[in-house]
Amino acid sequence: MRRVTLIPGDGIGPEIVEACRRIIEAAGAKIEWEVQRAGAEVMEEYGTPLPTHVLDSIRANKVAMKGPITTPVGSGFRSINVALRKELDLYANLRPARSMEGVRSPYKDIDLVVVRENTEDLYAGIERQVDEDTAESVKLITRGASERICRFAFEYARREGRRKVTAVHKANILKFTDGLFLEVARKVAQEYPDIEFEDRIVDNMAMQLVQKPHIYDVLVLPNLYGDIISDLCAGLVGGLGVAPSANIGEDIQVFEPVHGSAPKYTGMNKVNPTAQILTGVLMLHHIGEEEAARRIYQATAAVIAEGKTVTYDLGGEAGTSEMADAVIARL
Ligand code: NAD
Repeated sequence: MRRVTLIPGDGIGPEIVEACRRIIEAAGAKIEWEVQRAGAEVMEEYGTPLPTHVLDSIRANKVAMKGPITTPVGSGFRSINVALRKELDLYANLRPARSMEGVRSPYKDIDLVVVRENTEDLYAGIERQVDEDTAESVKLITRGASERICRFAFEYARREGRRKVTAVHKANILKFTDGLFLEVARKVAQEYPDIEFEDRIVDNMAMQLVQKPHIYDVLVLPNLYGDIISDLCAGLVGGLGVAPSANIGEDIQVFEPVHGSAPKYTGMNKVNPTAQILTGVLMLHHIGEEEAARRIYQATAAVIAEGKTVTYDLGGEAGTSEMADAVIARL
């Protein structure tokens, strides 16, 4: 039995996480869940939305699957999702974007993987109000973090049998910061002669992904471009309802869907569980439960392709739990 920390989250989180957990169990994966709660619901009890025992559980189990957690806008606590990545040094954000038959999208047969640096760039939080009319934010890029993320992208490409890595930047304008990222990417690329390497300026990359996404494979990007381009890639294959992700550190991985907690749909048994299910597939792949991962992916793809028992966003009328039942029936 493999112990995995399970954070149901809030909003639609508990419903989609439950759907995913039932499917994983039906597929026979040998997992013992350690359920941990975080977010606004534990604030009163523990005085913090991210109690230490949640972090301890993830550190001990090394693997966690979570549902989305709401971040209050403007005031209140900072994002738990960002705090988790920081506390556990989850430096790589992996977001596969793969076409599924039956999902409305502009393209077919897309199979892209976005590798986003998760710890620095404009997300380092070095920001200040200079005076009433001026604010500034520091774009921090280091050789260490750039090397780590580029090496991760190449190792991933090699391990998963991918052919090409594209580094994305704006080094023509940001000569020092993105210049450093590009310099490091080129250097790391030399250690992987079996993987093709190229670089693209981020604005051109956005246009090319819309016009000819099929020529790309693995993309590696600093944090902010990674955030934007990965949503673009999710859009190419049908949007947030089907986009999984993994946050990866040296020895800890936290898996979560790309989308948020969609509070307006809380408790309505309405939203699409696919992003959470595919997140579960990523996790199973990571812990070596290949057979369960493959079967769940195929069953989910078949239910979506058939189009009978799918949620509203996929053109159907099924609820979250009915769609999960349909996937289980297919397994
Ligand atoms: P959101 O992704 O929660 O929802 C945006 C819209 O996308 C929804 O209104 C809904 O129409 C659609 N949608 C999202 N998930 C869906 C699903 N599974 N099936 C069908 N439709 C779906 O984005 P938001 O409204 O900007 O954010 C809501 C909250 O989630 C915020 O508090 C935000 O901070 C948080 N958030 C958390 C995470 C995370 O936990 N990693 C990620 C993003 C946002």
